[in-house]
Amino acid sequence: NRQFVLGKRPDGKPDRDTFELEERDVPEPRHGEVLVRTLYLSVDPYMRGRMRDRESYADPWEVGDRMAGHVVGEVIESAHDDWAAGEFVFGEGFWSEYAALDGDDLTPVDPSLENLSLPAYLGVLGMPGRTAYFGTLDVLEPDPGDTVVVSGAAGAVGSTVGQIASLAGARVVGFAGSDEKVRYLEDDLGFDAGINYKTTDDYRRALADAAPNGVDAYFDNVGGPISDAVFTQLNVDARVAICGQIALYNEEGVPTGPRKLPQLIAPRAHVEGFLVFDYATRFEHANDRLRDWVANDDIEHRESIVEGFANAPDAFLGLFEGDNIGKQVVKVAEP
Ligand code: NDP
Repeated sequence: NRQFVLGKRPDGKPDRDTFELEERDVPEPRHGEVLVRTLYLSVDPYMRGRMRDRESYADPWEVGDRMAGHVVGEVIESAHDDWAAGEFVFGEGFWSEYAALDGDDLTPVDPSLENLSLPAYLGVLGMPGRTAYFGTLDVLEPDPGDTVVVSGAAGAVGSTVGQIASLAGARVVGFAGSDEKVRYLEDDLGFDAGINYKTTDDYRRALADAAPNGVDAYFDNVGGPISDAVFTQLNVDARVAICGQIALYNEEGVPTGPRKLPQLIAPRAHVEGFLVFDYATRFEHANDRLRDWVANDDIEHRESIVEGFANAPDAFLGLFEGDNIGKQVVKVAEP
């Protein structure tokens, strides 16, 4: 039973040395627990925050702590009334091949649903999909005809945000880090325009061309220079959802900012940070709608799959290089 623990706290960008591989016995499930064999595990940008020695919405890891995260797995042995061997489950688990998890915290996964696969439960039907759902519909509330801009647009959250905004009748523009990703946004996801920020010098000009009527709503996954540019194009009463700031996660001396705050004055912009957990009482509702959209081909989803448990650190590190299209997951074992 291999597992990854936090080897050391990263200084700036994490690397392979941030993680340590250990070998442990397969645990015995105690009363109320379920022994789960990990099939897919999720790597997420927020995990970078847990590597810091700083309180936040997710507790910091200590050096030596097992890396935790969402998993899809198979029940091997159950000491909980609700679960039986052979069932598929989703829940908060660990970067380990096997784990004994509290049966109360697991939810069932149905691998037979149309257009869905096991890893989708970590993406469009998991935390990223719900983040996109509430951040778009509750925070941004796009109206038909609005222009919505999304940064990190080809990632797990961003790709779903753009499609939900399109369904609401908005014109959608996305920032992403490669031509392949821009083609994905425009050709597969129905974005009205995509901007490759890695080959564009003048984000402000590029955005003005792609969103000639200005920006009514901005879903921010990345922060930094992209957000600086978007803030210069906001229309009166614009809404800004601060979901993530991945461009800043590896900065040690974080630049003071957002640097374009004066640009929020004239548009009387409404800027709101949010956490998906705040909407926990409505998760089921969001999942029902997301599942319907996927089943009806209204929402497209993709998972980037890194094969092999030992490669989980590389999958995580790749998030900061833009290696993924859609949700990044690690395939640990065959169902
Ligand atoms: P993604 O699937 O979007 O993966 C991260 C992506 O960020 C990469 O693919 C990369 O794409 C982009 N990126 C990395 N570094 C930079 C940079 N310096 N500048 C611009 N883009 C960069 O991850 P998620 O969808 O899981 O998460 C997206 C954001 O949402 C994160 O910031 C995350 O922390 C946040 N989040 C917040 C939640 C909340 O409750 N508030 C819940 C879930 C996620 P590219 O090739 O385009 O650079």
